[in-house]
Amino acid sequence: MNSPLDSIVALQGTLSRLAEVQSRLNGIPDSMRELHAQHSARQTEIDALESAAAEAAKDRRTAESAIADTQEKLKHYQQQIGLVRTQREYAALLQEIDTAKSSVKGLEEQALQALERETKAQGELEEQREAFRELDAAYGEEMKRWEAEKPGVAEEASTLVAQVKELEGHLTPGLLSRFNRLLARTRGEALAAIKLADRSGRGPQIWSCGACNFRVRPQIVVEIRNQGAILECDSCKRILYLGAEA
Ligand SMILES: [Zn+2]
Repeated sequence: MNSPLDSIVALQGTLSRLAEVQSRLNGIPDSMRELHAQHSARQTEIDALESAAAEAAKDRRTAESAIADTQEKLKHYQQQIGLVRTQREYAALLQEIDTAKSSVKGLEEQALQALERETKAQGELEEQREAFRELDAAYGEEMKRWEAEKPGVAEEASTLVAQVKELEGHLTPGLLSRFNRLLARTRGEALAAIKLADRSGRGPQIWSCGACNFRVRPQIVVEIRNQGAILECDSCKRILYLGAEA
């Protein structure tokens, strides 16, 4: 039969393992977390390209409609040429025609640039969507694999729960409730391993608490080593046990 200290050390170990398994069960595996990040990063890029393409298309349409308007004006001016009576009117009309022609030229340049931007964004969008499809499929695969793994992990969790119950049965009610209060206060780490602070082998040995580093008196180490006594750290109040290096 194990000493109460051995049982409590085993209980803490099992509880820590259980917490790990449960957080795995309720969370996303690391491999998927990375995929998930890639997934949303790609989605953001696609959104940005979509709005760039839409904006370029809008610019192009604006320029095209301005071209149509200006050409309409130009037609009107040209029809007027036959109607002018004075040299001055003629010169003014020619000036209007020149201005309209150069305006069309500028607008055509704008429309072309917008079309180039639009085409480029559409091409990139196509590539991104293709890559996204692959990523999406990979994500689906990982999800399927994780779903297949889950029952095994859940089974491990229930085995650990049963072990916890059994180990709790080895403790007196008083010790168990003291341990549970400590667990609540320390967020799941009620025990601290005693460690040897000075390992040079010269001079007196000095021990400390593995959780808070507070000095552990030699008398405590002796009582734990010889009698499996349930003693606590003077500072953090965790129950002490001898770590591998103490
Ligand atoms: Zn401590």
